[in-house]
Amino acid sequence: MRIVLTTLNAKFIHSSLALRQLKQYCLRVCPDIVVKEYTINNELSHILGDLYRETPDVLGLACYIWNIDYTLALVRLLKKVLPQTIIILGGPEVSFDPDEIMRANPAVDYIVQGEGEEILAKLLVDLGSDQPSSVIEGLTQRIGNVVVSSKPQTIAELDTLPFPYDDKAIAELKDKIIYYESSRGCPFSCEYCLSGASPGVRFFTLERVLDDLAFFIRHDVRQVKFVDRTFNLRREHYWPILRFLAAADCRTNFHFEITAELLDNDILEFLRQVPHGRFQLEIGIQSTNAATLAAVSRKNDWPVIKKNVDTLQSGGNIHLHLDLIAGLPSEDYWRFGQSFNDVWHLQPDMLQLGFLKMLKGSGLRLQAAKHGYIYMDAAPYEVLANKYLTYGEIRRLKIIEELLNQLYNSGRFRTTCQWLVASYQQDAFRFYHDLADYWERRNLHIISHSGKALYQYLSDFCQDQLSEQSGICQQFLKFEALTFERGATRPAFLPWDNQWEEEKNSFWRDEAKARQYLPEYRFTTWREIKNNYHLEVFSCNIPDYLKTGAAIHQETTILLFDYRGRQTCYQQIAAADFRSGRR
Ligand code: SF4
Repeated sequence: MRIVLTTLNAKFIHSSLALRQLKQYCLRVCPDIVVKEYTINNELSHILGDLYRETPDVLGLACYIWNIDYTLALVRLLKKVLPQTIIILGGPEVSFDPDEIMRANPAVDYIVQGEGEEILAKLLVDLGSDQPSSVIEGLTQRIGNVVVSSKPQTIAELDTLPFPYDDKAIAELKDKIIYYESSRGCPFSCEYCLSGASPGVRFFTLERVLDDLAFFIRHDVRQVKFVDRTFNLRREHYWPILRFLAAADCRTNFHFEITAELLDNDILEFLRQVPHGRFQLEIGIQSTNAATLAAVSRKNDWPVIKKNVDTLQSGGNIHLHLDLIAGLPSEDYWRFGQSFNDVWHLQPDMLQLGFLKMLKGSGLRLQAAKHGYIYMDAAPYEVLANKYLTYGEIRRLKIIEELLNQLYNSGRFRTTCQWLVASYQQDAFRFYHDLADYWERRNLHIISHSGKALYQYLSDFCQDQLSEQSGICQQFLKFEALTFERGATRPAFLPWDNQWEEEKNSFWRDEAKARQYLPEYRFTTWREIKNNYHLEVFSCNIPDYLKTGAAIHQETTILLFDYRGRQTCYQQIAAADFRSGRR
């Protein structure tokens, strides 16, 4: 029997842990299993043709919120061209209403509910046998014309699952994110989430996890993302893992979703010392509004979160990713703005603004009427409005999300945004609200923008809203172009200091002077100097502003940018060392 396991990932860079786990588990009962992955951006006809070529006896498809409609369309076509192929669906998007999906989609033969490894293996044994067993727990199937459903299942002993990767799989995934889990389940019960629906949290043994992780390190994997719902639940489980990874001599980055309140002082201190870039932490804040958190049965202790995130930030060695969700109950537009400001002021490396999805099987979906929810009927079931937010406000938040990604999360205009928010009395949400309003008035939200165009738009916005400070804004934009873009983008409208060429040349020719700032400097060729360094004269002192946070003031400031490393470095040049070149 030839088995093909497939899914449509949301992006090319993603990979499916579930398919590889299913394959490794089921290889013990069926040796001919292949994994095929596509993305939702692939043409349906291309996927259809490719799967047809495989002519599987059994085809299993993993269904998620981002691919369910596309997957069902694919399944209908597959049954037309491969009528003998047995089609099995699994995954969270089909686990909670399997009867309905089976009735609406005659092309689907079986649905595996919940954690599928054991169920699929039993089904494959049955399909290959003359005497199939009548009932498999966790499997929805047709018996005659009747759909008989079951309940989602879990795996009790996780160590019974084989490690999902081997040398070949790792080689094939070299440009993709590798996912891994050291536990399943979540003890919390946030009303909008399904992860707390399965009973209990189960862990792989520590021995097993450390063994698995050593494999990734040996293979010099770029990034491993743990999919554990709350990685730092059990100290005796997660701390040895972190210590093992921190001590490893490797380049791999490990990403974890954690709960910030559960970090104690010892762990915080330890995390502040781990090698730079080794860990990436994602922390779901969702809201800082007590009424909202109570309405979704989520407990967040904001003062503790804030203190712990501040401590983590002070180490400067861990990439921090904080999440908010718009559209939760009891949070109107401006109260959401307060949650936004609370998180903004922690200055994470990434602030992700997500939108509530009314997942099938979630508690919040059952309470939709109570909160006046209007949401998309089909996946991704995103909220369009509720008692607290109008559709117009959700739309505005969508534009804010776009702007946040382009200006802040991209890292491109972080310094300028920090200064602009200060000009808004530190009300970051009001700044983004006004910017979104400006964007919409100029129809900028309906087109995509090059990085270069964003310089002009930000400058125009500043001229429109803070006209007296537009000159300073242009100095910040110049600074961004020379740091983030390393001088590769130099928008012509910005006030570049072309009148200082003579001083710059004389600075570079005077090796003794340049060595005060670059000890190993030697004059070689102008081309090499141009490639490695840049001198620029600013009309205000941006480094001083960034260091002290004091109001920025006019002051001629000469900065030397050094592009030799991976990160741009800069330092201030004393005016006396610079101007002396002027004849
Ligand atoms: S949102 Fe996070 S903490 Fe809450 S139930 Fe889901 S996985 Fe658990």
